[in-house]
Amino acid sequence: MTDPCFCCSNLSYDHCCQPYHLGTAKPATPEILMRSRYSAYALHLIDYLIQTTHPNKRHLYKKNEIENWATSNHWVKLEICKAKKDKVEFKAYYQQGIQAYMHHENSTFKKEQGVWYYLEGSYFD
Ligand SMILES: [Zn+2]
Repeated sequence: MTDPCFCCSNLSYDHCCQPYHLGTAKPATPEILMRSRYSAYALHLIDYLIQTTHPNKRHLYKKNEIENWATSNHWVKLEICKAKKDKVEFKAYYQQGIQAYMHHENSTFKKEQGVWYYLEGSYFD
């Protein structure tokens, strides 16, 4: 039995997000992509986060900013609220020091030549 996956799927990491991180499989749905991106934050896989962002949107993100965001937080858990077609609503729980935070987002994904990408997100207060 290996470690449970960071995305809270109740699967082990090697049967969940790892194949996507290794590039041996492509997420079949936006929800799976969303989960693998959350796990990538937890594991500080910055290149994966860039690769899975839609090519038209990549210029909006700087590698060092993603890295700072990923490494300055402790990623506690992921909750998928709703996943429908190209949208995934989720809550990501994280901690900065002893302070707990929750990021609530409705993400939009886009499929290009059979591959899903993160397009953009709208945030809830
Ligand atoms: Zn996972």
